[in-house]
Amino acid sequence: MKAFDVIIIGAGPAGVSCAVRCRELRLHALVLEQGVVANTIADYHEGKKMFGVAGFFQGSPDELVEFYRRDLVRSQVDVRLGERVVSVKRMGKYLEVGTEKGVFRSLAVLVAVGIQGVARKLGVAGEDGENVHYAPDNLKKYRGRSVLVVGGGDVAIEAAVSLCSFGAKVVLSYRKDEFFRVKELNLEQLSKSSVDVRFSSNVAEFKGKKAVLRGAGGSLDEVLVDDVFVLAGTVRDTKFLLDIGLKVGGDLNIDYDEETLETTVPGIFVAGDVTREKQKLIMPAMYQGFIAASCVLGYTAKVKCK
Ligand SMILES: Cc1cc2nc3c(=O)[nH]c(=O)nc-3n(C[C@H](O)[C@H](O)[C@H](O)COP(=O)(O)OP(=O)(O)OC[C@H]3O[C@@H](n4cnc5c(N)ncnc54)[C@H](O)[C@@H]3O)c2cc1C
Repeated sequence: MKAFDVIIIGAGPAGVSCAVRCRELRLHALVLEQGVVANTIADYHEGKKMFGVAGFFQGSPDELVEFYRRDLVRSQVDVRLGERVVSVKRMGKYLEVGTEKGVFRSLAVLVAVGIQGVARKLGVAGEDGENVHYAPDNLKKYRGRSVLVVGGGDVAIEAAVSLCSFGAKVVLSYRKDEFFRVKELNLEQLSKSSVDVRFSSNVAEFKGKKAVLRGAGGSLDEVLVDDVFVLAGTVRDTKFLLDIGLKVGGDLNIDYDEETLETTVPGIFVAGDVTREKQKLIMPAMYQGFIAASCVLGYTAKVKCK
């Protein structure tokens, strides 16, 4: 089996930036991505305004995805899309990376899987109904409709505000009595919008065109809805990371060395949102990916000499 110098898991900003830098450093890299290039950014809701990237890019999320795609093509990086990594195993000096379709081998692995995971469900009746959605796609098409958004994070607030601006009638249901750790800009835009915010409310049930909300005192309130967006966070798949022996804490806190980005398992590195970096943003992720390439180079040079 052909062995790569490094297999990069995830083609987000961290993974792409590492892959492109690896080419410059003459490292033979393979990128395995479960979805499409820059999947997280490709999933941003329509009409989303980018922030924090003006230093290197000005444009829409779709244009940024295209920027990364072109960067990979221009640098002739070997990228396999639709390859979800499910295992990493040590085989002597190599690491074997298993996807749902095959097995690949390398000296080092970069874990750049981000923190998005899969949408968290509420565990209530009717949540698999065809008008219940878990990703804020194509929001323009909800013009004139009554939409319930469930959640109180940035994703839910941004989607609620956008839906409103596209002409939907929006109720935002959040289980807590105030918002926590939400971007100031989002709170500002929410307060200027006509979104009907229902704090301390929990979905009890979805019944087709009705959603039943339970208030703090147990009161039940039926809301008429054409569509529902459940944007209540995500659940992360850490099994393959735990199996190889990475120490992973509650918040996908992988244990690693700040300087080398190497985890407690030799040859496995991390970059991007999965690290302890407080700013979970595109530019820090790209910077870490860039640095990770040099760390991988140092490691592979040592292993090749043995
Ligand atoms: C709704 C939303 C809006 C945001 N807006 C902004 C903004 O305006 N400006 C900004 O700077 N930041 C923003 N962010 C944050 C930004 O998107 C992240 O900080 C950045 O994408 C992190 O890059 P990353 O490469 O670490 O992870 P990601 O971009 O999440 O990439 C990880 C990649 O790994 C893939 N993957 C995961 N598991 C596997 C697996 N098992 N096998 C194979 N592939 C896998 C994923 O499909 C994904 O493509 C936003 C985030 C969200 C959710």
